[in-house]
Amino acid sequence: MRSLYIIRGHLCRRLLARPPHIIKRHKFSGRIKSANKPNASSLPSTPARTRFAPSPTGYVHIGSLRTALYNYLLAKATGGQFVLRVEDTDQARTVLDAEPRLYEDLKWAGLSWDEGPDVGGPYGPYRQSDRLETYTKYAARLIDEGHAYRCFCTAEQLDEMRTISMREGNPSIYNGTCLPIPPDVSARRAANGEPHCVRFRCDHAPVVNDLVYKAYAKPGPEDNFIIIKQDGFPTYHFANVVDDHLMKITHVIRGAEWLVSTPRHVALYEAFGWTPPLFAHVGLLVNEEKQKLSKRHGDVDIASWRDRGILPATLLNYVMLLGWSFGKGVKGRDEVMSLDEMVSKFDLRFTKGDITVNQKDKFLQKEHVKRLARTGDPASFTGVLLPPVEAHIRKLETEWQECIRTEGADSSPAAREKLGPLVPLARPPRGDGADGDVVSRRYVEKLLRIDVEQYADAASFVLRNRYCIWTIRPATYRKALQREVAGVLELSTIPETPRTVSELVAMLRDILQEIGDDLWEQHSIKEAAAPFLSSVRARVERQVGGGVTFGTEAWGYALARWVVAASEPGPGIYCAMELLGKAETIRRMDVAHEIATAEALGGAAE
Ligand code: GLU
Repeated sequence: MRSLYIIRGHLCRRLLARPPHIIKRHKFSGRIKSANKPNASSLPSTPARTRFAPSPTGYVHIGSLRTALYNYLLAKATGGQFVLRVEDTDQARTVLDAEPRLYEDLKWAGLSWDEGPDVGGPYGPYRQSDRLETYTKYAARLIDEGHAYRCFCTAEQLDEMRTISMREGNPSIYNGTCLPIPPDVSARRAANGEPHCVRFRCDHAPVVNDLVYKAYAKPGPEDNFIIIKQDGFPTYHFANVVDDHLMKITHVIRGAEWLVSTPRHVALYEAFGWTPPLFAHVGLLVNEEKQKLSKRHGDVDIASWRDRGILPATLLNYVMLLGWSFGKGVKGRDEVMSLDEMVSKFDLRFTKGDITVNQKDKFLQKEHVKRLARTGDPASFTGVLLPPVEAHIRKLETEWQECIRTEGADSSPAAREKLGPLVPLARPPRGDGADGDVVSRRYVEKLLRIDVEQYADAASFVLRNRYCIWTIRPATYRKALQREVAGVLELSTIPETPRTVSELVAMLRDILQEIGDDLWEQHSIKEAAAPFLSSVRARVERQVGGGVTFGTEAWGYALARWVVAASEPGPGIYCAMELLGKAETIRRMDVAHEIATAEALGGAAE
């Protein structure tokens, strides 16, 4: 006799179809560029030489990537050159692997440079620690011309000076003790090995004409700041100015935190009689609490974006829009740009003031993933999307294996609670696991291709597709079935034949079993299974408002999704069956059948 299915719980079955994703359009603000009159945001008419000049005291973060990108775009948009210069004058703070990581991270992002420490160029060397002689030479020139002087004050003397100044309510700046030392005396003391630094004689702080902030005057007097430290290394200010001049840099785009230092730089240019480059200081990136983002926050380190599976195109596009905008009237979808498109659209239309980082990366990632799916570029699939997905699967699987090894197979850490062992086809083929890989690269690549449209980041992709990667545990099936049948009064197939869940599973299994092993691909599976699935109906009771309504719903696809994916979203059901392979699909039918039978009996016994 056909077993009865007892319906438990309330009328709570959710429709399987998900609501369409709503994409928010972003508002634009910006100045309208005059058609014929060049303004501050117009590109220069001659090739610009720009540079990215990071200090290797940490890794590239979104703020520094943005600076690099803007400089890159300006150079490329004007047919100029983009220079990479490593400013490693603060030896004590230099992080050992920061320089190699710098190259790696910038290359991953898709940026390249025309000149730099690793590629050379006509104005090298491009690492400041390799240019010490140059700085000594230019400092000597300033000393000779009376623009700079040696300072022999000790740290204790300077401290004492600062305390007195502050006590008297004066600004804490150098009081010029060593300024009157006659040049010959100063030279002799230096030749005798007396420790000293070199200070710039800064008697005024010039007004800076910035492309973004316009006329900027530093509040308060300027110090006789140090240009060569006691250790013989130049300070940032000095090396930066000497190098920008010698490397023929025409434009400096950098974060607004450097604006306050720029009067010092301009004073140095004036002392040398050099023309300064044009400066554009771009708004500081701040978080929602209006605090400055810094490279100390691991979450803004670009390697963490890469490891999460964010596309380099997404990240570049995202940072591009943090402080640069189109003119008025430009539609939101035009925000989605490849690097080449950015080059063609770029001008100096920067935003003034702090810029709060936003969530636009999610929208941009979707759009760039769509583009990638359209082009299907194999290198992007295997080179960009695949590694973080593989790494995430490897991490979960390795954690699980480790857990089994140390705590026994019964341990069930939260992350793996609902997952069984890897699907057989997802295991690396014999001999392919030599590098200790735990998952088949071919399998993961196939999964990526069938579900790429839904890819947001590696972790959410693996979560969404977990049942394509790992087998489904009976408890998961059971819970999912209970949810699926809530509100279902009776199941049937056309014409009007009542069926139980286990009967339906058995029927589907028989249909699939008939498909030849060599024909196991989505189209044949669909051809065989679709007529049956579309004949499955459910008579349901639904609670609407305060009352109850009765109706009939198609239920075949709910059934198939339950068997194949424990009712979770994922790739299309036929695609998923093809990926899992015939053996695993049939195995899932068998497990599901057993569960449906047991549940029905259990229910009847209640
Ligand atoms: N070395 C400085 C930094 O780390 C460069 C600032 C500039 O671009 O002048 O950001």
